[in-house]
Amino acid sequence: MIKENVKRLLSEVPEGVALLAAAKERTADEISEAIRAGITIIGENYLQDAQKVLSEVKEKAEWHFIGHLQTKKAKKVIDIFDMIESVDSLRLAQEIERCCARRNQIMPVLIEVNSGEEEQKYGVLPKDLPELIKEISPLKHIKIMGLMTMGPRFGNPEESRPYFIKTRNLFNQIKDLHLPNVEMKHLSMGMTNSYQIAIEEGANLVRIGTKIFGARRES
Ligand SMILES: *Cc1c(COP(=O)(O)O)cnc(C)c1O
Repeated sequence: MIKENVKRLLSEVPEGVALLAAAKERTADEISEAIRAGITIIGENYLQDAQKVLSEVKEKAEWHFIGHLQTKKAKKVIDIFDMIESVDSLRLAQEIERCCARRNQIMPVLIEVNSGEEEQKYGVLPKDLPELIKEISPLKHIKIMGLMTMGPRFGNPEESRPYFIKTRNLFNQIKDLHLPNVEMKHLSMGMTNSYQIAIEEGANLVRIGTKIFGARRES
């Protein structure tokens, strides 16, 4: 089933749009199957889950951290992930910088935007984004490569559109600043129910779980 789902999605997604398989709660076997079917990027929300499956998944892929990252876990996340899509504070960026400097490594990151300006959600508020990017960009072991957003959850994906538009406008705004050490390349938005709308509004990285792996257990 996973194989068919991946093939269908890959044929459907336009050229230039990368497909990330959001693998929370999935087994190593399920992840391996997705990679063998053509997935090249795996997203994980929790460090412990990733540590467990990474030792078992033999197929090569790029691993993106897409969950909320606590500062104290930054070091271990850097050990195993190729990109962190959820940087949303200077404090977290400084910790990533410290750990990467020690290892002489550069970590590509996306800045997570709380595009719905929801109180309980992670991500930087749109009004604070330019300032945060200006503060992080001088850090030598971090490379800002774009933005990520979740947006509010709706039954009707059309309602997500304004939040995707808002994030795309922010993306272009930052791009136009031509800040040193900032390369606005990836715009990560859209999940199973909203990815088509997100792509219409400029997403070039979509994060899909359910439509690849099937429904999750109720969480
Ligand atoms: C779970 C998750 C997704 C994918 O969600 P689906 O609705 O299952 O496609 C995408 N991004 C993040 C950050 C997630 O946690």
